[in-house]
Amino acid sequence: MIVIPQELLPADGRFGSGPAKVRAEALEYLSMRSDLLGTSHRQAPVKQLVGAVQEGLAELYRLPDGHEVVLGNGGASLFWDMAVASLIERRSSHAVFGEFTRKFATAAGKAPFLEPPLVTESAPGTVVLPTPGDADVVAWAHNETSTGAAASVRRIGEGLVLVDGTSAAGGMDVEITETDVYYFAPQKNFSSDGGLFIALVSPAALERAGRLTRGDRWTPEMLNLDVAAANSRKQQTLNTPALATLLLLEDQINWLIELGGLAAAEARCRRSTDHVHAWAGQRDWATPFVAEPAHRSPVVATVDLADEIDATRVIATLRANGIVDVDPYRALGRNQLRIGCYVSVDPEDVKALTACIDHVVERL
Ligand SMILES: *Cc1c(COP(=O)(O)O)cnc(C)c1O
Repeated sequence: MIVIPQELLPADGRFGSGPAKVRAEALEYLSMRSDLLGTSHRQAPVKQLVGAVQEGLAELYRLPDGHEVVLGNGGASLFWDMAVASLIERRSSHAVFGEFTRKFATAAGKAPFLEPPLVTESAPGTVVLPTPGDADVVAWAHNETSTGAAASVRRIGEGLVLVDGTSAAGGMDVEITETDVYYFAPQKNFSSDGGLFIALVSPAALERAGRLTRGDRWTPEMLNLDVAAANSRKQQTLNTPALATLLLLEDQINWLIELGGLAAAEARCRRSTDHVHAWAGQRDWATPFVAEPAHRSPVVATVDLADEIDATRVIATLRANGIVDVDPYRALGRNQLRIGCYVSVDPEDVKALTACIDHVVERL
C-alpha cells in the first residue's frame, strides 16, 4: 500500500465528474436554511427559493427576453424523454460524440411516433456537430462528460437547438440566444445534489411544447414541458422537489455571480484543465485523450496512461489516500484518468492531485 505524504495531498480530494464536489460553505448555507426542509413546496418560503434560483440563473445567463427558467424533477435524463415527448415534432438530428450525446439519440430512436433520428457520429475524444437535414430539433452536448471533449454552441439549421449543458453549465460561458433549450442537472459545476432538471427555454420551444402536448400525442404528465413551464411560472414544480438540492444550487449561483459570472468561472476551470493537459504532455506515460487542443474541455480533463501503468491501480491507490472519483467513464473502457475540474475545485488542489499521481506512478 502506497501512502501519499500528507504535504502532497490536496485540501479536498473530490475530483469526480459528477456528482462532484459540494463546497463546505454551501453546506453551511444549507444548515442555516434547514427550517425550510420538511415544509410545503406550495407555500411562500419554498416558492421564494424557486424564484431566487430562477432569477439568479437569469442573471448568470443574461437570459434573453421571453426565455424562461423551467425546472422539475428527474435530472438531465428525464429531460431527454421530456424533449422526445414535448419538443421533437417529426424528427430530430443528433451529434453523437460520447455516451451522453448517444443516450439522447437512443431515446429519440425509441419513440414510436417519430421518424428515426439523424445521427452524426464521431469517435470518442473528438467533436462533431449535428447535420440539420430536415430535422425539427438539433441536439448535442456543450461538454461530453464521458470523454472530456467540448463543442461550440451556435445555431445550426432551422430546427429547435437543444444543448445538454449538464457538465458545462456553471463552468462554461454560453450565448443563450444561440439555443432554444439549454438544459442541465445541478450536480456538476453547480455543486448541488442530483435529481433536478433546469432548462432555459426560448419562446419558440415553449410554443412548440404547448402545441405538441395539447394535440393528439399522448404526453405523460411528467414529460410535459408545457406543464413544467406552467408550474415554473408559479415558482413551483409539478411534484415535490428536493429542497436541499435547490438550496445548494441557490448558494452556488450566488457564489458564481460573486466570482464574476460564467466567464470568470470558465477561466478558473481552465486554470485547472490547462494544468492537467500541460502536466500530461510532460510525462512520457501520460497523454491528453482529446488530441485537438481546441476540443479539450475546460471542465473535465481526460488523460490516457501508457499500457504499462494500470489506471485502475492508480485510481485505487488514490482512493485509499482520500482522492476519489478520477475513474474514466465506464463504457469508454480506456486506461485513463478523468479529472473533474469544476469551478468548485480549487486549481491548487488540481496541482496537488497531479503531484500525487506522480508520486503513485513512480512507486507502482
Ligand atoms: C451527468 C450528465 C448527464 C446525466 O445527468 P443525470 O442528472 O444523471 O440524468 C447528462 N448529460 C451530461 C452531459 C452529463 O454530464
